Amino acid sequence: MRILLTNDDGIYAPGLSVLEEIARQFSDDIWICAPSEEQSGAGHSLTLNSPVRLRQHDERRFSVSGTPTDSVMMALREVMDAPPDLVLSGVNRGANLGDDITYSGTVSAAIEGALAGVRSIALSQVYSREGMGDDVPFGAALAWGAKIIAPLLNAPFADRTLVNVNFPALPADQVKGIRVVRQGFHDYSRGSVVEGRDPRGYRYFWFGLHPIEHTLDHGTDLEAIDEGYVSVTPLQLDLTNHSVLGEFADRFGK
Ligand code: MN
Repeated sequence: MRILLTNDDGIYAPGLSVLEEIARQFSDDIWICAPSEEQSGAGHSLTLNSPVRLRQHDERRFSVSGTPTDSVMMALREVMDAPPDLVLSGVNRGANLGDDITYSGTVSAAIEGALAGVRSIALSQVYSREGMGDDVPFGAALAWGAKIIAPLLNAPFADRTLVNVNFPALPADQVKGIRVVRQGFHDYSRGSVVEGRDPRGYRYFWFGLHPIEHTLDHGTDLEAIDEGYVSVTPLQLDLTNHSVLGEFADRFGK
């Protein structure tokens, strides 16, 4: 089995080493193509207004001076001589739960894999304290990663489906189990724009990530993580709201 690894935290991120350790439990045919710099929050963006550089680090390890989507595209079109059987994205430093998904470079790299028809899984390690930076503990992801991936390898995936996995902020032996759950939503928050002055006195703004509240909702990824479980959520690329399609057609006289 040929596996492509990518992420949005960059080629040197600790979570990518964790992912490699997980992936090597399944195969030795591991390819890595990841952004050269951190791209958290890049979503599904594609670099169109500037060139991207491809750098080879060793035989099957590459970085791209662009986004996670750029990295997957480069891997599929330029780097690999045959397509992978599996794309794994992560392990992200921090949660990708609920409405985080569309901002997430980690999930978007898996979206790109799914669009290309490759089985794709995004993995994220939730952490508990703000400002942990490079000290985020990946123990839960490391211990539970293969247990999550194994059952997904032979199961049929519907077309244009990917899987979003989050590991709770707990030591591995305190994780309660696995829950297959739907995507939840945070309460919309307008907070966390930090204002400051640069060294020359000009005003700047910096978007922060602070814990966002969510109203309790049963059966969601947010609830599963709150309660100490690994969340597994199948996602689909079809964003159409099918339940109102007919009603909309009626409004436009079909
Ligand atoms: Mn990230």
